[in-house]
Amino acid sequence: MARPLIADIDLKSLHHNYAVACELAPLSRAMVVIKANAYGHGAVACAKALETVAPAFAVASLEEAEALREEGITRPILLLEGIFEAEELPRVEALDLWQVVHSDWQLKAVLKYSGAHPLTVWLKLDSGMHRLGYDPEVFVERWSQLLASSDRACDLHLISHFSSADQCDTSQFEQQQRTIDAVCQRLNAPRCIANSPATLVKPQTHGQWNRPGIMLYGSNPLESELPAGITLEPVMTLRSRLIAVRSLSAGEPVGYGARWRTSQPSRIGVVAAGYGDGYDRHARDGTPILVDGQRCPLVGRVSMDMLTVDISHLPDADVGSEVVLWGQGLSVDEVASHSDTIGYTLLTGILPRVPRRYHGG
Ligand SMILES: *Cc1c(COP(=O)(O)O)cnc(C)c1O
Repeated sequence: MARPLIADIDLKSLHHNYAVACELAPLSRAMVVIKANAYGHGAVACAKALETVAPAFAVASLEEAEALREEGITRPILLLEGIFEAEELPRVEALDLWQVVHSDWQLKAVLKYSGAHPLTVWLKLDSGMHRLGYDPEVFVERWSQLLASSDRACDLHLISHFSSADQCDTSQFEQQQRTIDAVCQRLNAPRCIANSPATLVKPQTHGQWNRPGIMLYGSNPLESELPAGITLEPVMTLRSRLIAVRSLSAGEPVGYGARWRTSQPSRIGVVAAGYGDGYDRHARDGTPILVDGQRCPLVGRVSMDMLTVDISHLPDADVGSEVVLWGQGLSVDEVASHSDTIGYTLLTGILPRVPRRYHGG
């Protein structure tokens, strides 16, 4: 039998979550953020699953876009950070990609480039996150410059990103929203500013376009619970099995560094999954794991290929018992909180040696 660790990817749930993003913003078009291999879910499979309903995709690099084009994805694809060097522009044109322009060196490259067609540019406003983009005053100048260069750049959109749309304290979010509103009013610019948290709970951010990512994969990015009436379905269920069961007396250590010890006679299950697969080594004792559908605590340090779980309360659990690390029945967000991280890192962190198995396509 093959190693039992598998990432089951439910494409019906991906469709469900995409429909939620669309229903929450009925006047917007939702581009599917599919960077980082669709947050670990497989970019090509997810793009193919959503191609008939999604008007565009967004990725982080030309290489990610190229991989989609090679597999026959013909929808528009936006490069969220634009080009990384001017030499990429011929491929951007050949692949018919949309690009963010966030810096003057990119703007100069676009204006200098003489292709057969003007390039589609999404100009990035730094509304207060201070990562990428132009300050408002400079943004307005660059926007006019691009408008005057319609032989080189076309179909301008304003794009900006929120640092804190997920948070209960809304002051930073509101400052950014005011900055964006002021610039949009001056320029009458079509906007694309909503990520998943803003799509979920900030309807005032919804623009001509939105850019949901993590919510499409079923993880809740908000500091708070999802609002009543909104359900996201987990797309990835990380499954494995018990490959050994040990009976230990009280006071025995388990795993590297003997971090955890039995306090009573215990049954310990060994699961085929470890940090060499992307399961977080920071997971603390007590991180929930489902064995035969029942919650059990992780005990002891996560190894590269295995981890250990206390199954003392499950007398029927044995070698071959089904294990769910996260997904159906156990949210990735809850698991992430036990490693002081977020669902994003766990999902994107699943390594290539874990086979993806697709359903519902
Ligand atoms: C990744 C990304 C998104 C999607 O963010 P989520 O929080 O996953 O919805 C949107 N916009 C930009 C610029 C991004 O880099």
